[in-house]
Amino acid sequence: MCPRCNKRVYFAEKVTSLGKDWHRPCLRCERCGKTLTPGGHAEHDGQPYCHKPCYGILFGPRGVNTGAVGSYIYDRDPEGKVQP
Ligand SMILES: [Zn+2]
Ligand SMILES: [Zn+2]
Repeated sequence: MCPRCNKRVYFAEKVTSLGKDWHRPCLRCERCGKTLTPGGHAEHDGQPYCHKPCYGILFGPRGVNTGAVGSYIYDRDPEGKVQP
């Protein structure tokens, strides 16, 4: 069963990520809708997100503050505003 549309996933269209089987077009960032690569994206509450910019924007203060200072700056929008 695909976690997004709750329909059966057949082998030909299956991608596996977060320990679940998704339709390839259903594995999208929950926030921006960008198609994601299995295993190459972030996750929150079982929902897939792209690392940049969405995960950093939504959950950044927890995620990026613990890392290097350089990556903290890099994760910010150059103009200091959050993308729509
Ligand atoms: Zn689906
Ligand atoms: Zn996104």
